[in-house]
Order: sequence, then structure tokens, then C-alpha cells
Amino acid sequence: MTPAVIVLLGANSIPVAKKIISVLPGAQLYGLAGRTSDVDVSFTEFGTTLRELFANGTPIVGICATGILIRTLAPLLANKRQEPPVIAVAEDGSAVVPLLGGLNGVNNLARQIASVLDVKPAITTTGDIRFGIALEDPPAGYHLANPEYAKSFMSDLLAGHSVKLEGNAPWLRNSSLPIDQNAERVIQITEKPVVSTSTRLVYHPATVAIGVSCTPPRPIGHPSSLAGRGRGWGSEEIALVQQMLADAELAPASVAGVFASTLDAANPALQAIADALNVPIRFFTTDEIAAVMSQNNTADVAMAAALAASSGQLIMQRQSFDFSCAMAIAPLPIDINTTGKPRGRLAIIGTGPGGGDWMSPEVKEILRNATDLVGYSTYLGLVGSLGNGKRWHESDNREELARARMALDLAAEGRFVAVVSSGDPGIYAMAAAVFEVLEREAKPEWQGIEIQVAPGISAMQAAAAKIGAPLGHDFCAISLSDILKPWSIIEQRITAAAQADFVIAFYNPVSKQRLWQLAETRNILLRYRHPDTTVVLARNLGRDGESVEVYTLEDLAPELADMRTVILVGSSKTRMIQRCDGSVWVYTPRRYDEDKTS
Ligand code: SAH
Repeated sequence: MTPAVIVLLGANSIPVAKKIISVLPGAQLYGLAGRTSDVDVSFTEFGTTLRELFANGTPIVGICATGILIRTLAPLLANKRQEPPVIAVAEDGSAVVPLLGGLNGVNNLARQIASVLDVKPAITTTGDIRFGIALEDPPAGYHLANPEYAKSFMSDLLAGHSVKLEGNAPWLRNSSLPIDQNAERVIQITEKPVVSTSTRLVYHPATVAIGVSCTPPRPIGHPSSLAGRGRGWGSEEIALVQQMLADAELAPASVAGVFASTLDAANPALQAIADALNVPIRFFTTDEIAAVMSQNNTADVAMAAALAASSGQLIMQRQSFDFSCAMAIAPLPIDINTTGKPRGRLAIIGTGPGGGDWMSPEVKEILRNATDLVGYSTYLGLVGSLGNGKRWHESDNREELARARMALDLAAEGRFVAVVSSGDPGIYAMAAAVFEVLEREAKPEWQGIEIQVAPGISAMQAAAAKIGAPLGHDFCAISLSDILKPWSIIEQRITAAAQADFVIAFYNPVSKQRLWQLAETRNILLRYRHPDTTVVLARNLGRDGESVEVYTLEDLAPELADMRTVILVGSSKTRMIQRCDGSVWVYTPRRYDEDKTS
């Protein structure tokens, strides 16, 4: 489910919000600007913010009066099937009131919140109270085939009808439903695509495991034979699996997942099958597969994967010349969170130079969902409360390749790893290190990892924005660090950039041990640029102690910079505009033909 948002209107609500967040992983704090601090998102427009969250399906926990939530969301209440949970919590945590989202787990969410606040939730749904269950909102692992009948079915039971259970579902059997094996009304739990009626409610349990494998596994790096087939990856395999499901007369809603060996993780056809069935894919290690093979006396990896996932009974098996699939049914729904491992994900993200305002929504989303964060400790500090509840793997800034290797190994274990860089991850940061290790070491278990780079605002862009538009025309970036490249190359690049009249962004201008390089840079630049050339020194952008100062090239000295300074040296066209408050704007015009500007 989408992580929840906890809405605060004042600082008094913070202690209650912190308790609630402990049971809602990935939840974000939204605070009213001016009244709250230390929140993930500050908002000014309560109504617009809330309606936007609601319309996006985000569960909302408002630490405020029920009336405010009701009035704010009233215009949007059109379709109860699509309503996210909305809960009002009293500022002192003494009341938890589920308001909306009865079909999307609001009562369970309210129970969770109430239990951490040590109060009783104000649950008002009659069926829920009387029978201890909500027929319309079954627990994970059960899919209601005919939701349109659930309400009247429940009304019948509340009116005194009893119900017969066909099939096995402990949550129904252990409820307070009026069960009577001779009753006319039936709740059926089945993997079969049974026709449901107003007196027969059908649940499909997620008990079917589909095992898949390539025979033999394709060698890593070998272009998959599937790639060239032109009908999209895995179309023949998808057809085979779908035919197997149809032949076994099973409802697709009963498929819990697609299961495979980690050796096959890089094969795009397997993912395509899971996507086509709209179910997750999970992997077993070669040891796990081997153990099931020997227990069941089979050499078929697909069969072993299906059995490993279900601990159940094999019901069908199919094979093409290089692909095999098998189906097994478990006695109870398969918990996808504890069965096999998901495909590992590695997101190399840039947090922007400083605070949350300069962090992209994509990066925030990744931070919310990642299980592990890898990065230099200072950068990990930049992610704020989004890092709560994750495994942190801090390391020294210099060990870039070792850190990249560790991140890939963690992802290969099925974790969702975010490698955190400040600014943009592809600019003097971790993305290149990850790809370097990936290319050089090419471990087979890394091949199935889903890798993604999520950009951030780089220091030079933030600096430019603060002072105007100095990067308005052609520019380049040069790092003055000679740890990874020799000074002779840096010198050559500065010369070439100066000759070409680029605006130049200098990263890593100085460090405690490296001071002379900046002085030398100025000397080289002065051979080609006027001593009055505008230079912008931007320090601690987006962080405490931010400063943006303008000097001339002549005055540029190593003492003016530190490791958290980015320097922008103007081109011959870069200009300054005086502002009323004595400060300046700096910009580089895009036109060269000055006669035409008037
Ligand atoms: N990936 C980062 C750059 C990392 S290299 C980015 O895209 O911004 C480190 C250098 O970046 C620092 O020496 C400094 O030159 C610059 N830098 C990073 N964060 C900064 C900040 N908040 N303010 C000013 N400069 C910064």
C-alpha cells in the first residue's frame, strides 16, 4: 500500500505523530508551515494538500478534529472502492477515529495506530464489530471475486441468516460469523473460477505458485534468444503459462507469484511472465532449489521453485524446448513477503545539495521504499527522517568502489538499496563508481539486479540559481581533485576551457591537503580571462551556513573556498546587475550578436 501521510497542524502533535510513525513504515509527516518544524513536507494550503493526497490514494492520518477532515474531503467522496483510508487522531492521542476507506483497510490501520497509542479505536462498522471481520475487505492473501455482493451478503447475516463455509480460510472460520453447514448462504474459498451470486460469496486464496526456469539457464551476458523474437520478451513463455493456468481451471486471482532460481534472475522473460499475470516474482538461491530437488527427486528447476514456494502439491508441468513451468498449490495463501527473495533493486540517488526542498519527488519515493541506505555519513544525514527505520551502511568518503561493491552485493540479496550522493549522483559521485565495479567485476549474481539512477540538483545548478543565471550559455565542469586524475590533465582542461571561453564550474576546489591547485587554476585562467572576470563562490548550498559571494578572478584565493564550495568562473560575456539591496545578479547572456539584442 502507498505509505501514509500524517498531517499535523501544530507542534503539540509531534509526540503523537512520532508514535504513529513507528507503526507506519515509510510514512511522511506533513506539517502546517509556520506552526510545525522538523517535518518531511511543509504545507500552507490545508484543503488543497489534503484533497491532492486523497485523490492520489494516499492513506491520511490527520491529527486534528474529524470535522475538519470531513468538510475538506466531502467534495471528493464519490467512489468508496477507491477511497484511501482516512483516520482522525486526537492531538493527545486519546481517540482514533477511522472515517473513510472501509474497503481499503481503514479499520485495521486504526487498530494498529490505536494499539501504539494504547487506546481503543472508534470502530463503527457493524459487521466488523459483530463478526470481527469485514467481508468486503479480506486480509492479505484472499481476493473477493464478487465485491458487489458483499454488502447485501453482510446485511443478510446481520439480519439473522447463517452461512456455510466451503473451503479453508482460518480468518473466516475463527470469526464470529454464524456458521452453519446447512445454511443456504455460502462463502466459498476456492482457486477455481466459480460463478458467484448474491447468496454465494467467492474468495480466491493466493495459494498457487508458478515456478519457471530456462533449460538450461542461459549463460550470463549471452544475448537471450528471446530478445530476437520480435513479439516482446517472453511472449511464448507467457502464452505457455497462461495455457497451463487455463488447463488447470484456476482463477488468475489465486496466483500468488512467479518463482524462479536466482540463476535465472537476469532473464527478462521471467519478469515478463510475472508482469503479464500482474503478480510479484520471487527467487530462491541455488542451494534452496537443490534442497527441494533432492527432497522431491526431480531435476526440474521450475518444479522445484513451485514446490519451494508452496510447500504444497504439484498440479501441472509444461515444457518448451528451452523453458519449463510448473504449478503447485499451497494449503494456505503464500505470504509473498516471506517466500523467496524479491529482485534486488539498486537506486543511485542524488539528494540535491542540501535540504528537502531541493530533493526530487522520485528520490523521496525511493528513500521511503528502500530497505538499505549506503553512503558517506554526511550525505546520509541529508536524507532526514526519510532515513528512519532503514539499515544504514555508512562508510568513509574515499572508499567509493568498495561502497559500490557492497551496495551491489546487498541488492543481490534481494534488498532495495539506495546509494546516496549529494547533488547529482552522476556528477563526481557514486553512479560512475557503481557502473565501474559492475563492468569490471561482473558477478553473475549482480546480473538480475534492477538498477536505476535518480538525478538530483547538482551544486553548480544550485549555485547558479542562487545568483541568477551564470550558466546561461555554454559551460563546463572541472574537478580540481587530483586524487583520481593527474594534475597535468586538470591543467590541460583548465587551459582548454579558458581558451574556449566556457563558463567553468569548479568542484572540489580545495581540501585541507590541497590548496595550491586553486591558486594555480587562477593563474592559468588569468592568461586567457580578464582579471575583472566575475567569480561566484557558493558554499554550503541548501545547508546551514549557506553563502554565495561574488569576487573577481584576480581576487580568487584558496582561503576563500573549502571542501563545500563550488566556484563558478564567468566567461568573457558574463555580466552583473546591481540590485537595490546592494547585492548583485550574475548572468551569462545567450546571445552573442549584441547588435541584435536591442
Ligand atoms: N555530486 C555532487 C558533487 C560531489 S563532489 C553534486 O552534483 O553537486 C563534491 C564537491 O561538490 C564539493 O567539493 C563542492 O565543490 C561541491 N558541493 C557539493 N555540495 C555542495 C554544497 N551544498 N554547496 C556547495 N558546493 C557543494
